Amino acid sequence: MTQMLNIALAGNPNAGKTTMFNALTGARQSVGNYPGVTVEKRVGFVTHNGLKLNVVDLPGTYSLTAYSQEELVARDYLVKERPQVVIDIVDANSLDRNLYLGVQFMELGIPLVLALNMMDEVRKSGKGIDTRKLSRLLDMPVVETVARAGVGKTRLLEEAVAYAEARGGSWKPLTISYGPDLDPALLDMAALIEQEKFLTDLYPARWLALKFLEGDIQIRNLAETVGGVGRKLSEIVQKTEKHCRATLDTTPEAIIADYRYGFIASVTKQVVTTETDQQDRIAVSDKIDRVLTHRILGPSLMLGVLYGMFLVTFTIGDIPMGWVESFFAWLGGAAAELLPEGLLRSMVVDGIIGGVGGVLGFVPLIMIMFLGISFLEDSGYMARMAYMMDRVLRIFGLHGCSVMPFIVSGGIPGGCAVPGVMGTRTLRSPKEKLATLLTLPFMPCGAKVPVFLLLGAAFFEGAAAQVLFWITIGSWITALLVSWVLRNTVIRGEATPFVMELPPYRLPTLKGVCIHTWERAWQYIKKAGTIILAISILIWAAMTFPTLPQEKTDAIREQREAVQIRLNSVEEPDQAPLQAEITRLENRAAEAALKNSFAGRIGAGLESITRWAGFDWRVNVALVGGFAAKEVIVSTLGTVYSLGAVDAEDTEGLSKRLQKDPHWNRLRAVSLIIFVMLYAPCFVTVVAMSRESTWKWALFSVAYTTILAFSLSVAVYQVGQMLWS
Ligand code: GDP
Ligand code: MG
Repeated sequence: MTQMLNIALAGNPNAGKTTMFNALTGARQSVGNYPGVTVEKRVGFVTHNGLKLNVVDLPGTYSLTAYSQEELVARDYLVKERPQVVIDIVDANSLDRNLYLGVQFMELGIPLVLALNMMDEVRKSGKGIDTRKLSRLLDMPVVETVARAGVGKTRLLEEAVAYAEARGGSWKPLTISYGPDLDPALLDMAALIEQEKFLTDLYPARWLALKFLEGDIQIRNLAETVGGVGRKLSEIVQKTEKHCRATLDTTPEAIIADYRYGFIASVTKQVVTTETDQQDRIAVSDKIDRVLTHRILGPSLMLGVLYGMFLVTFTIGDIPMGWVESFFAWLGGAAAELLPEGLLRSMVVDGIIGGVGGVLGFVPLIMIMFLGISFLEDSGYMARMAYMMDRVLRIFGLHGCSVMPFIVSGGIPGGCAVPGVMGTRTLRSPKEKLATLLTLPFMPCGAKVPVFLLLGAAFFEGAAAQVLFWITIGSWITALLVSWVLRNTVIRGEATPFVMELPPYRLPTLKGVCIHTWERAWQYIKKAGTIILAISILIWAAMTFPTLPQEKTDAIREQREAVQIRLNSVEEPDQAPLQAEITRLENRAAEAALKNSFAGRIGAGLESITRWAGFDWRVNVALVGGFAAKEVIVSTLGTVYSLGAVDAEDTEGLSKRLQKDPHWNRLRAVSLIIFVMLYAPCFVTVVAMSRESTWKWALFSVAYTTILAFSLSVAVYQVGQMLWS
């Protein structure tokens, strides 16, 4: 008989959950997301004594209160899927802190097996844990493990299966006393909940009462929807809160935490012996911290680390990115050879290979960046960085963990918002993550920089570097201010407490870091094959259709052929001007085709609005194209100003041209710089944003940034005109 058993792995971040999951399931696992959110879901299979086990690696959490998506997801999974047994992986080095989550499982009552992981480190530190006594005190199986070496995994499975069978799916909630101030309220609330059957199909009544008192947002929101009982519960909570404030000058939440830790201490005191060496290990970490989080030295070192990582990402990343680019250039060339001239060739070469290739070009960058982030995270330094930045960013409604995404997106000019968007996964609170997502596209990414350099060289001769510096400062200020506004309007909400504790420093393993990096990169590659392919074709079509009428293209071709014949008949020294003539004709053809295309018509149509900011149809087409990728701005300007193929590096000719153009002046340049600095993120970023939040928010970001950019450009242009003319 084959029977299916569901096992969930839970625990604090960094307790070794994923390592244990990998040890248990080997290669038989799959990674996806929980429905509706971007929290990773890993599922694996094991066969044990003819029994089929379905193992889920839950997201790492410190508690079961709905402070973050991870906690919500973990909790929803437990109460809705009702796995037959939960294995709580705890870092036995800090048993007290790790049991905080464990106690909440016990209060929920779900069958629980405790895995005391990292026992190698515990033993090395000379500490002892009386496992048998712990098991007796907590009334559950306790197994010692070393996940990294696979030690104890078989016993863990045996115990889990035996315990699941013994419990037969029954839940036995543990009741902890929360003292004379809270216990009466808890009893009242539990009675009310029981009576009205509010969510009691999912949770024990007392557990719901506790979460209500702890300020759990999900439960409180749900209670609001059921009317009467919700109001009565809120009344009790308010009374209790007032009472706690008056008597103990604290919150129910804090009291609950105190009693839980009290319960834990009463257990661990009896089972853990000789803490001395553990103290040493912490002492070492403390000593390192005295330097690394020093008030002045700390931030300077952090800037150094950030800058170093940035340099490594973008200089080392350049090499494989070059390979990927050459590969797609080769592929484009090969396709151009194979396909006959015409629309199909244009679509395959410019639309598909150009679009998807441009996106896959980011893969090396993303991999190197995630490698760095995983390393900083596993080593424990990331937590310190977040800790140091938290106080500043908090003022603007952001979080310490927002720093990295900002830097990567171009906080130091030359980054890229796509890996920046993916880097926001380290943010645990959805609202802070959203604020970070929505403001990081303001950073001067590597594709915008050529535009700034071009305009700087043309209109601020000799001061291009200063221009870029002030643009960077302006981008940061805008991002912080906008974030502050967003957090006080559309994404209003409490700042999440900085719950992340500073873990002791640890040397990360190469294997772990590599696995994480690859998984993230693979999700990105898969995406390039689907949605991005479709959008690339759309944008190509907008810049191609409708095509020029036949007689126009024929006329241009005839002119070109005439020059070509002359070219063939003259000697070497006279060829150059004719060659230039051909280039000019080709560009004129490209310009005419572009002006006639859908994108070109949009550009011309927008002129009546954009002239308020000083943009003509040429600039408009470039800006519309810039939505595909900001690199397109410079290359399109090159096309419409008939200067031959302009690549991002070679902007000198174009800048001379702009300088001489009577339409252009310094004021228009400033207006355009402001617009490019702030307007809609490129579509790859938008797609990435939709994956990290929702399409609604991704589109919102396109709309609000464009409106903001345009308003500022108009203001500057109009005021400037008043002052200087
Ligand atoms: P998760 O966040 O709970 O999934 O933790 P991981 O599985 O990613 O592990 C965090 C770190 O602890 C990694 O660097 C692991 O190599 C390391 N680790 C996991 N289990 C053990 C163990 O039993 N002993 C030691 N010394 N390190 C471990
Ligand atoms: Mg993990």
